[in-house]
Amino acid sequence: MSAPSAAKLPPFDPADPLGLDDLLGPEDLAIRDTVRAWAADRVLPHIAEWYERGELPVARELARELGGLGALGMSLTGYGCAGATAVQYGLACLELEAADSGIRSLVSVQGSLAMYAIHRYGSDEQKRRWLPAMAAGEIIGCFGLTEPDHGSDPAGMRMYAKRDGGDWVLNGRKMWITNGSLAGVAVVWARTDGGSGEGGDGGDSGDSGDIRGFLVPADTPGFSAPEIRHKWSLRASVTSELVLDDVRLPADAVLPGVTGLRGPLSCLSHARYGIVWGSMGAARASFESALAYAVSREQFGRPIGGFQLTQAKLADMALELHKGILLAHHLGRRMDAGRLRAEQISFGKLNNVREAIEICRTARTVLGANGISLEYPVMRHATNLESVLTYEGTVEMHQLVLGKALTGLDAFR
Ligand SMILES: Cc1cc2nc3c(=O)[nH]c(=O)nc-3n(C[C@H](O)[C@H](O)[C@H](O)COP(=O)(O)OP(=O)(O)OC[C@H]3O[C@@H](n4cnc5c(N)ncnc54)[C@H](O)[C@@H]3O)c2cc1C
Repeated sequence: MSAPSAAKLPPFDPADPLGLDDLLGPEDLAIRDTVRAWAADRVLPHIAEWYERGELPVARELARELGGLGALGMSLTGYGCAGATAVQYGLACLELEAADSGIRSLVSVQGSLAMYAIHRYGSDEQKRRWLPAMAAGEIIGCFGLTEPDHGSDPAGMRMYAKRDGGDWVLNGRKMWITNGSLAGVAVVWARTDGGSGEGGDGGDSGDSGDIRGFLVPADTPGFSAPEIRHKWSLRASVTSELVLDDVRLPADAVLPGVTGLRGPLSCLSHARYGIVWGSMGAARASFESALAYAVSREQFGRPIGGFQLTQAKLADMALELHKGILLAHHLGRRMDAGRLRAEQISFGKLNNVREAIEICRTARTVLGANGISLEYPVMRHATNLESVLTYEGTVEMHQLVLGKALTGLDAFR
C-alpha cells in the first residue's frame, strides 16, 4: 500500500503534534473540554493572585463546583460518583493541573486518597455516610500518612490508636497534609496493638501489619489541623499539620477492609496515576506560554522563536510533553483493563514529573526576565512541581521501586 500524499494528511497541529486526540472518544473529549472550560473560567483569572497571597480563598466553593462537574471521586462507582474511566479521570487531572497543581491536588486528595480509601476499604455504613457528600464537594476529605519523622518510610509511624473498651483513642501528629484545615473528615493511618502481620509493597519493608485506617470527623474533640504557612510551592493549596490529642472514636471508625501499609499504598497508587497525567498539564501550560512568547518577542530584529537555539528548546519540550501524555494514556488504558501494576505507575510518575519540571524550567528561560513574573504561569508551575516531585513518593522512592522490580533486589534499607 502506498503512503498517502501529504495533501490528504491532516494538518500538523502544534497543540497535538502526534495526533493523540485520535486516541480519545467523543465522551473523553467532552469531559476534557468541560474541565478545561471550567478551569479557564474559575481558576485562571484568579490563580496568580491566590498564589501571591498564599491562599486558596474559595476552596469550598470550588470543591462544590468540581463536585457538580463529577470530578470528585470521578473514576469510582456508586455513592454519587461519576464512574468515569481511568483515562477520563486522567484527562481531568491534566486540565486541572494546567491551571494549577494546587487545584489538581485538592481533587486528587479528595478522590484518589480520601474517597478511594473509604470506597475500597470502608464498610457499607461508612460509604453511605461519607461518599455522596464528598462526591458532591459538600465535605472535603484529607489523607494523613506522613508524619514529622516518617515520610518516605511510613512503616515507622508513631500515630498510635489504642483500644479503650469499645472505643479507639488516637494520639500523634501528621505533617504536610493537603486539604487538612478544610477537611470535614480525615483518613488517618495509625499503628495499633494488633494486626494481621501482612506487609505492603514499595518502601514499607518494615513490620507494618498493625497499621489501620481511621475515619476522623474534624469536629471530634482533640482533633485540630493548623495550616502550614510560608510555603514557596503549592501556594494556592491548603497544607496542614494534623494534631490528634486523645481523640476518642467509636469502634466503627476503623476501615474494616485492610490492615498494613498495603492500605495507604494502594490509595497512593491511585493518586500517583492522576499525577502522571496532571504533571503534563503543568508542562503543557508552560510550553504553550513559551511558544506564544517565542513567536511574538523580538530581539536582534526578529522573533526569538526564529533562532535555532530557541527552536531546539521548543522541539525538545514538545517531545517530552507529548511522549509523557502518550505514556499517561497507555497507563490509563492498562488501568481501565485492570492490568496496571504499581511499578508501572512509578515508571510514569518518575518520568512525567521529572520531565514536566524540566519543561517548565526551559520555558522559563525562553521567557527571559518575564519568566520569573506571576503574569506568566511558568515559574508558578515550576515551583509547584517541586512539591509534586516529592509527594506521592519522591523521585528516589520511585527509582528504588523500579530498581527493585528490575533487579529483584530490595535497596530500600
Ligand atoms: C505540598 C505537600 C503536600 C503533601 N500532602 C500530603 C498529604 O496529603 N498526605 C500525606 O500523607 N503526605 C503529604 N505530603 C508529604 C509527602 O508525601 C512527603 O513529603 C514525602 O513522602 C517525602 O517525605 P519527607 O518529606 O519526610 O522526606 P524524607 O522521607 O525525609 O526524604 C528526604 C530525602 O531523602 C531521600 N530518601 C529517603 N530515604 C531514602 C532511601 N532509602 N534511599 C535514597 N534516598 C532516600 C528522599 O527521596 C528525599 O530526597 C505532602 C508534601 C508536600 C510538600
